[in-house]
Amino acid sequence: MTNEKSLHRGRRAKIIATLGPASRDPETIAALYEAGADVFRLNFSHGTHADHAASVAAIRALEKTTGGPITILMDLQGPKLRVGTFQGGKVVIQTGASFRLDLNAELGSAARVCLPHPEIFAALKPGASLLVDDGHLRLRVKSCGKDFAETEVIIGGTISDRKGVNVPDVTLPIPALTEKDKADLQFGLSQGVDWVGLSFVQRPEDVAEVRAAVAGRAGIVAKLEKPAALDHLDAIVDLADAVMVARGDLGVEMPMEQVPVLQKRIVRACRKRGKPVIVATQMLESMIKSPMPTRAEASDVATAVYDGVDAVMLSAETAAGLFPVRAVTTMHRIACEVESDEHYLDLMRVGHGETEHSSPAAISAAAGQIAHTLQAAAIVTFTSSGSTTLRAAQERPDVPILCITPSLHAGRRLGLVWGVHALVGDFIHSVDDIGDVAVKAALQIGIGKKGQALVITAGMPFGKVGSTNMVRVVWIGGETQAA
Ligand code: PEP
Repeated sequence: MTNEKSLHRGRRAKIIATLGPASRDPETIAALYEAGADVFRLNFSHGTHADHAASVAAIRALEKTTGGPITILMDLQGPKLRVGTFQGGKVVIQTGASFRLDLNAELGSAARVCLPHPEIFAALKPGASLLVDDGHLRLRVKSCGKDFAETEVIIGGTISDRKGVNVPDVTLPIPALTEKDKADLQFGLSQGVDWVGLSFVQRPEDVAEVRAAVAGRAGIVAKLEKPAALDHLDAIVDLADAVMVARGDLGVEMPMEQVPVLQKRIVRACRKRGKPVIVATQMLESMIKSPMPTRAEASDVATAVYDGVDAVMLSAETAAGLFPVRAVTTMHRIACEVESDEHYLDLMRVGHGETEHSSPAAISAAAGQIAHTLQAAAIVTFTSSGSTTLRAAQERPDVPILCITPSLHAGRRLGLVWGVHALVGDFIHSVDDIGDVAVKAALQIGIGKKGQALVITAGMPFGKVGSTNMVRVVWIGGETQAA
């Protein structure tokens, strides 16, 4: 087995660090990893393909030195809607005034501007809201046609060239992937990314469309940021491999006060189905400029960890901030502190008690219970697809979850998942090996000591997805017991 020392960080919630100009050099990537980053996010709204290729190369080089799989998430930009340009670059529009949006490419004024997206006009209805510049300006449609909308300015202000537009009230008839996304996706897959983040998901079909394009080469993270998606929450969670609560755009498209409630609702829906869930955006926002977070930010990270999310994410804090490594260290420290609270496990499990009526669910729940009763050192999962490990993590057991897999893809993807430490290698040749392999793996990564139990789960025959059907107890330095 490889050098797994660094795989066991003593933390269950994972940390995602977005790379950018402040952090994409190999030294900072290594420092972020050392500080606790488990997943690196490449944000395709920024940076060139050359930038992202260099980041992937640095991460994969680092992976060789640490020995453990490292997870890469590529995040697609998705459809960004923008107004055109103005005479003088910007204008002020007054609250209560009329303002027209149309397809006319001429420079805009305080009376009108181009909105070069016919698909928006096709979907707009009188009464719909248009939010400009992250919601700083708000327009309401009075009347509209196939190439214009007459609006009333509900909240006025300065509007400048190419500011973003959000249309929360309508499901836009646009495909899941823009031409840029398609090119970025093929590039990212060719680089071997592990997860693909799909922005502005509106309907379950969007996830299905991207799944067809990805063709099993990566997992799909559905980013929930549109109200329309929340109308299909369960179906989207079922179709996606993981979900992100993308609070940046969610907080523009929905009233701010609904974001915390939606965050809890999305986390519950994901945990119920055993789908990894990420809480993202503004978690330690003030650390973009300050070496210390606010108390409220520390509390925000802690709340997500108490809720049992799989991962908490840093965006501009690590991509463009002044203290990228410190932001990761801070997040790590907050998560560790929460996880050492004696009430953490109980609080995290409140309202998540149901086990579905399937054999893999029953075996995984039993493994968690046995680990609890025996005060085991770890649950050890043998998997080729990752499904046995995911199922074990869904139980949020008391103990770390080791994943032993021959699949580098599965090992890397599982880096996003609560409590999981993956070891990749061709360790198992017969089912009789699993006890010995489990003990060696646990000791090698520094989990467990002589006399402690390991609870092993696997699906037999190996290699069949979703076939978790075996649980076994092995004592470190002792005999195995089949169950
Ligand atoms: C978000 O909106 O919260 C988000 C994570 O997406 P992006 O950073 O791509 O805007």
